[in-house]
Amino acid sequence: MSIDNFNFANKKAIVRVDFNVPLDENGNITDDTRIRGALPTLKKILNDGGSLIIMSHMGKPKGKVNPKFSLAQIKDAVAKALGCDVEFAPDCAKAAEAAKDLKPGEVLLLENLRFYPEEEGKPVGIEKTDAGYEAAKKEMKERQKEFAKTLASYADVYVNDAFGTAHRKHASTAVIADYFDQQDKMLGYLMEKEVKAVDNILSDIKRPFTAIMGGSKVSTKIGIIENLMDKVDNLILCGGMTYTFAKALGGKIGESLCEDDKLDLALEIMKKAKEKGVNLVLGTDCVAGDSFSNDCNTQICSVMDIPEGWEGMDAGPETRKSFAAVIEPAKTILWNGPAGVFEFDTFTAGSRAIADAIVKATENGAFSLVGGGDSVACINKFGLADQVSYVSTGGGALLEAIEGKVLPGVAAVK
Ligand code: AMP
Repeated sequence: MSIDNFNFANKKAIVRVDFNVPLDENGNITDDTRIRGALPTLKKILNDGGSLIIMSHMGKPKGKVNPKFSLAQIKDAVAKALGCDVEFAPDCAKAAEAAKDLKPGEVLLLENLRFYPEEEGKPVGIEKTDAGYEAAKKEMKERQKEFAKTLASYADVYVNDAFGTAHRKHASTAVIADYFDQQDKMLGYLMEKEVKAVDNILSDIKRPFTAIMGGSKVSTKIGIIENLMDKVDNLILCGGMTYTFAKALGGKIGESLCEDDKLDLALEIMKKAKEKGVNLVLGTDCVAGDSFSNDCNTQICSVMDIPEGWEGMDAGPETRKSFAAVIEPAKTILWNGPAGVFEFDTFTAGSRAIADAIVKATENGAFSLVGGGDSVACINKFGLADQVSYVSTGGGALLEAIEGKVLPGVAAVK
């Protein structure tokens, strides 16, 4: 079932969105991208003459009520974005009456789902290693089903538009779907777009395909690196992981970030790339700093010869050129993770060079997907988000999808 050809007239739709927006200390929203991202789905339902029950999590309240994470704080912003009044249900599991009273065009926002441990379905107050954990887990799974059933009872239709949590099998993202008929559950527009973007990267590959993996550590990216190795022509590995590779090759890396227990893994990745005919591109020079700060002293040096007391914090000029050389001619591009400590203005040049090359390739017809927390922050910082093909809202969900894993939030409605 596609949201586009479903008529919501006189239907109550319960929609899982990702309104986990950042708030400042006064509870003001500092970035409303996620609210704006859900608007096409929410407006379609209202314009059809349906009523809306909106549900989301915010932060990590760990199964307990905590005003700091109350969605009441964003009620007015949601109302403003939708251009209509929004009712608030202060207890998401006791909203049956409020939901029953909804008329076409009306909106009810439920309180944070994660105020209930049932949402995530993890047993509380017991560790995995404790006796009785398995029994507690089983009991919580039953409670999770009941919780999901309660949420489902509010509505006729279920729509999942929360890509950011699609890799989690939570009550509101997956279990709830069991309580709707196949024709009454579907993905929202944002989810459809995200799934299609991943599909473009995984199945409809125009070559050459260049993937750029950066960020701080190789250990958190290994799953995706291995998966990409079967698909890409060029694989750029940059950011903090550069120095684990340099050290594995016998380089002197000063104080640079390094995962000493991953040196063998780095060599293994290089070997695999060779076997599979993948052009693995690593940094050769870097911008090193004498402290981890924006106003430290800097120097350009080889990644294999960084003086003691200095650490590699960004890609050097020669490296930027070699990255651009495999990005610009690419026809499919995936970028996850910055090439340097881009939060400091002194160390943005590497990430900027990547972003500029991606924009150029996109202008020349490439499909470019930028995703995963920091790369999005990075492309936004450069003001180039609208010059790439797609900026994904999902961090973990995007990476798991590209690793080839089935996302529970997608599987549940399909
Ligand atoms: P990740 O969460 O693994 O994608 O990593 C993102 C973080 O990696 C950002 O906060 C960057 O500042 C950081 N990063 C990138 N390059 C380096 C580097 N050379 N040294 C230390 N941190 C880095």
